[in-house]
Amino acid sequence: MKIKDKLKIKHPAISFEFFPPKSPENENILYETMDSLKGMNPDYASVTFGALGTTSDKSLEYAIEVTKHLDTSVMMHLTCVGFDNDTVDNILSELKDNNIENILALRGDIPADKVDLVKSRKFQYASDLVTYIKNKDEEAFCIGGACYPEKHPESVSMDKDIENLKIKVDTGVDFLVTQLFFDNDMFYRFRDKIAQEGINLPIVAGIMPITNYKQIVRFTDMCSTSIPQKVIDRIADKSDEETAKIGIDIAVEQSNNLIKNGVDGLHYYTLNKSVSTLKVLERLKF
Ligand SMILES: Cc1cc2nc3c(=O)[nH]c(=O)nc-3n(C[C@H](O)[C@H](O)[C@H](O)COP(=O)(O)OP(=O)(O)OC[C@H]3O[C@@H](n4cnc5c(N)ncnc54)[C@H](O)[C@@H]3O)c2cc1C
Repeated sequence: MKIKDKLKIKHPAISFEFFPPKSPENENILYETMDSLKGMNPDYASVTFGALGTTSDKSLEYAIEVTKHLDTSVMMHLTCVGFDNDTVDNILSELKDNNIENILALRGDIPADKVDLVKSRKFQYASDLVTYIKNKDEEAFCIGGACYPEKHPESVSMDKDIENLKIKVDTGVDFLVTQLFFDNDMFYRFRDKIAQEGINLPIVAGIMPITNYKQIVRFTDMCSTSIPQKVIDRIADKSDEETAKIGIDIAVEQSNNLIKNGVDGLHYYTLNKSVSTLKVLERLKF
């Protein structure tokens, strides 16, 4: 089923994100995770895609596995930067052959040593990919796009980023998924601001339950997300075990506040582990 249709009937839609594991041991962990999350009846799940197609085959393989294991719709992430038409065509036809009809259309990050290669190629921005897919077959895929409540790190300003987001949305995006964030008020301001600019699509909030202090600092640094001081105060100087428990409390409070304020979807960055996400979902108030 297309995610845009799920988002019309389920408020909020619940989804999980997985990444393709790189070793047999991690593959087992992913299957165990899916087994334990299955009972939560997610509305869909997504599988990430390595920049420049580094996990292309694996992403597709696991997207198929996730559909089977969770018995739900799947969305494959697809980064486009550096790709040519043939590469995109092959991926789209594999998705079609496997009945995968949801794509998160992304630019991807450009490795410093590949900037020249990327600049010579057709796909420079996620909007180029959305345009290409829509021109090929308007109805075949439901397309999500990424958005950044704290602005994309390369953007000079929030206004410019929203201007670019509007271009992307107008090429045919069906719904948006946010970068992970911890400050709901900032998200609500972003939601209001993009609505004022004429972006009226469902916005799915990206939630990452904190499990480990060093790890969350590394992730948030990587994606330029801020951690509010009040969150840092709760997890600083705590053991990993205590941090994971507090991380669940924080994600529950954040999710329930989002539900109260009419969020369209909650997308949990599981990191292929189930414990925290499961405990958060058990405490949601619909
Ligand atoms: C929910 C989510 C899932 C993700 N999953 C993955 C994944 O699976 N694999 C992966 O490698 N990365 C993933 N990423 C990271 C993402 O690839 C990076 O954040 C990347 O830097 C931007 O991708 P985008 O699709 O948002 O790019 P775009 O929408 O193309 O925007 C990128 C930048 O270019 C600017 N811009 C856009 N259009 C124009 C234009 N026409 N002219 C000038 N400037 C423009 C934007 O303002 C922004 O600063 C994910 C991010 C999110 C939020």
